[in-house]
Amino acid sequence: PLVLGIETSCDETGIGIVRGTELLANAIASSMDEHARYGGVVPEVAARAHLEALGPTIRAALDEASVDLADLDAIAVTNGPGLAGALMVGVGAGKALALSLEKPVYAVNHLVGHVGADLIGDRPLETPSVALLVSGGHTSLLLVRDLDSDVELLGETIDDAAGEAFDKVARLLGLPYPGGPEIDRAAVGGDPDAIRFPRGLTRPKDLDRHRYDFSFSGLKTAVARWVEQREAAGEPVPLADVAASFREAVVDVLVSKAIAACTDLGVPRLLLGGGVVANRRLREVAEARADAAGIALRIPPLSLCTDNGAMIAALGARLIMAGHEPSTLEFGADSTLPVTDIQS
Ligand code: ATP
Ligand code: MG
Ligand code: FE
Repeated sequence: PLVLGIETSCDETGIGIVRGTELLANAIASSMDEHARYGGVVPEVAARAHLEALGPTIRAALDEASVDLADLDAIAVTNGPGLAGALMVGVGAGKALALSLEKPVYAVNHLVGHVGADLIGDRPLETPSVALLVSGGHTSLLLVRDLDSDVELLGETIDDAAGEAFDKVARLLGLPYPGGPEIDRAAVGGDPDAIRFPRGLTRPKDLDRHRYDFSFSGLKTAVARWVEQREAAGEPVPLADVAASFREAVVDVLVSKAIAACTDLGVPRLLLGGGVVANRRLREVAEARADAAGIALRIPPLSLCTDNGAMIAALGARLIMAGHEPSTLEFGADSTLPVTDIQS
């Protein structure tokens, strides 16, 4: 089926078009620059930016795919989780398109969409698979038994998301937003073992309750305290060492927990998704440890890891191919939609 996917859950307006698992277009407009001076995504600003970007981005995707609206078989749209106001823009557009074209609409889960990115191209997703999704808004570990019907949340962050931790630590180090790439740059030449920053929720007593959960706010505080103490003592702050050591702590926890889930559950496949996958150290460590544990690691191209409409279209196509009925037009935007609700 020829499916157009709409993604507006955060600061990317993403419109993707797929035919089955074949990628035809992946058009994106981001309002990231508008959020830079606030040091994080501002919901109201993001929602307005979607409203402005949606029309041109739909046009761009149709042109890129060389298809007309009338050719589409269905619309897929993210209806949660994410920023309520931002989601509402996409949901409204998805319903309007479906109604006017008299085509079915599939309201789909954003996080499951990230896993759906792996359907694209000639690399069919094998299941069961563990998925680690790391972005500015999410840090989630999923067990995917069947993408269109059985996805389970193993764990998630209990405070900051991994990308958010990069953004906040960058800020306290005086680096601009978004923090991920800045920390990466600052870490060049730094010693990842220079400072032993805490690994959240990895002590035996934490593992009982939070085996697959994450926590990054303690790490952020530890970095802040370390830097303050240095400054108070009148000593210079070794930026490269701090950045490299912080990054190592984040990467270590993310990869350890993901590999532990694979090993515990006997699942020999790990999929990565989300904007933090841009981190080269994360990919390196994940590759090395997956290899050592005999786990097949799958990382979609970066353009499909960050928020995009193609992954939403791909999940919609998958639901159609698996015989699911379209969504009825009553669905709304649900900012806290659980991952088990694959389709609304
Ligand atoms: P959502 O959480 O809904 O997926 P988002 O916009 O917060 O949306 P993305 O756009 O996928 O998420 O990713 C942005 C996040 O990724 C930011 O927090 C940014 O700092 C982080 N990031 C980007 N590049 C890197 C990098 N090289 N290393 C670490 N983090 C990075
Ligand atoms: Mg984003
Ligand atoms: Fe996302």
